[in-house]
Amino acid sequence: MIYRSSPKSLRANEASDAAPAVLWSLPVRLDPAVIPVTSAQAILKSVMAPEKTFYLETFGCQMNAHDSEKVIGTLQREGYRQVDSEQEAGLILYNTCSIRDKAEQKVFNRLNDYKKLYKDGKRFGVLGCVAQQEGEKIFERAPYVSLVSGSASYRKLPEMIARLEAGESRITGLDDRQTDETFETEFTARQNPYRGYITIIEGCDKFCAYCVVPYTRGKERSRTYTSVLEEARRIADLGYTEIQLLGQNVNSYKDPEGKLSFAELLAAVAQVSGIRRVRFTTSHPRDFTRDIVDVIDATPTLCDHVHLPVQSGSSRVLKAMAREYTRDWYLERISWIKSSRRPISLSTDIIVGFPGETPEDFIQTMDLLAEVQYDCVFGFKYSPRPNTPALVMIDSIPETEKAHRLQVLLDRQREIQRANYSRHLGETMEVMVEGNNPARAQVNGRSSQNKPVNFTWPSPIAPAPGSYAQVRITATHPNSLVGEAV
Ligand code: SAM
Ligand code: SF4
Repeated sequence: MIYRSSPKSLRANEASDAAPAVLWSLPVRLDPAVIPVTSAQAILKSVMAPEKTFYLETFGCQMNAHDSEKVIGTLQREGYRQVDSEQEAGLILYNTCSIRDKAEQKVFNRLNDYKKLYKDGKRFGVLGCVAQQEGEKIFERAPYVSLVSGSASYRKLPEMIARLEAGESRITGLDDRQTDETFETEFTARQNPYRGYITIIEGCDKFCAYCVVPYTRGKERSRTYTSVLEEARRIADLGYTEIQLLGQNVNSYKDPEGKLSFAELLAAVAQVSGIRRVRFTTSHPRDFTRDIVDVIDATPTLCDHVHLPVQSGSSRVLKAMAREYTRDWYLERISWIKSSRRPISLSTDIIVGFPGETPEDFIQTMDLLAEVQYDCVFGFKYSPRPNTPALVMIDSIPETEKAHRLQVLLDRQREIQRANYSRHLGETMEVMVEGNNPARAQVNGRSSQNKPVNFTWPSPIAPAPGSYAQVRITATHPNSLVGEAV
C-alpha cells in the first residue's frame, strides 16, 4: 500500500530538518482471525483457480490509511494476494480523498493512465470519498471502472467482490448517509509496523460550510465500547504497544450501549495490558470536555498531545464556517488543556482565505497563534468543494492572496515552534522508534508529545520500529529534536 498525504496540505512541521523516514520492510501483522482456510476443499480450489491479486493505492488522511488496512484484510480473507504494482495485479483499487483541491480530477487522470490495462483483463475499483462524491458518474467518465464504493459501504465488500468475480461490471456501494452501521472487521491487515489504529466513530453530522466529509463518509455513528476494547486487546496481542483512536471527530464518540463517555473510553483503552501509548485524533472543539484533560492528567499511558483544529481565529469567520463555537469558547478549552499538571502539546488545523475573510480576520488568526503557541499547525488554503454550503458564497480571496496568507501564517508558526522546541534542549525523554536513516546514521521516532526525534544509537544494529529509547536532546530545530540514546 502506498500512503500519500494530501499534496496541498502544508504543515509547519514539514521542513527539511526532519530526517526522512526509511520504509521498513516488515511482515504485515494480521489480526488472529485472518488465518488460512484449511479445509481440503478450499485447498483444492486454491490450487486449481488462477491466483487472485490486487493492488491498492491510498490517498489522504490516517482514516483512509486505516480503512485501507481493513479493505486489504477483507480482500485477503476472500483469497486475494496484495501485490506492489498495477502491472502484477488483477484488481486495481484506489482509495481516494476529496477533502481539498481537484482530487477527483487526479483520480480520473490516474485511471486514464491505466485504461489500457483493462484490455489485459485487469479490473478497476474506486473507493473512498471521490467514489462517494462522484458516484455513478465515474462509470460515465471512466467506463473501464467496475466498482465504485464509498467508505460507508465497505462492510459489503465481500458481496461486491463476489459480483465482480461473477463478471458484473458496474457495481456500486453508495450507502452515504443512509447507514447506521460501522465497518467492523476482525480481518485487518495491519501495515503500520509500530502503531495500531482503531476507528471508534465514523462519519460526521457537523456540516461545516466548507467540508465534504458529511457527504462522503455518511452520518456520525460510534462503535460500542465493547468492540473497541476487544480490538484494543487484539492489537496488544499482536505485539503493538501504541494505539491511535480515530474519528473525524473522535471526541464526539457516543457509546451505543450508553456505558462509557469518550474520556472513560480513553481510560479503558489505556488500561489494556501491554499498551504503553494511546493517541486520539481528531478532536472537535464543540465536543471537547474538561474530563478529557483530567483523564490525560491522571493516565500516563495517554499521550500528552491534543490536536484541536480551530480553523480561524475570527469569531465572524467561525460563524460563517458553521463551526458553532467562538474564539473565546475555543480559548477556554485551550486554557483547560494548559492548566493540566503535565504539559500537553497542542496542534491545530487552520484554513486561510475562507470566503469573506478580511485582513482583520486574518490578523485575529495570527493573534491566536501567538496566544496559543501551538507545537504544530496544519495550514490550508480554502478550497471550494462540491455540495458544500460555502460553494455558493463568493470565493472573494484571490489564490495569490490565499497563498500569501498561508505563507505568513506558516513563517510565524515556524518561529513559535523554534522557541517551543528549543525548551527541550538537555531534556531526556522517551522516544518510540519509527524507523531509521542509515545515510545519516540516525534512528527516528516520536516523543509522547508527538514531536519527531532523530537520534544516534550506540550499536550498529538500529532498534526495531515500535521499541522505545531514552534520548537526551542535544539540538533542536523548529520541526524536530535531535539527540543521543542514553
Ligand atoms: N473533523 C475535524 C474538525 O472538524 O476539526 C477535521 C477533519 S478534516 C478531514 C481535516 C482538515 O481539513 C480540517 O480541519 C480543515 O482544516 C481541512 N479542510 C477541510 N475542508 C477544507 C476545504 N474545503 N478547504 C481547505 N481545507 C479544508
Ligand atoms: Fe468536516 Fe466539520 Fe465534520 Fe470536521 S466537523 S469533518 S471539518 S464537517
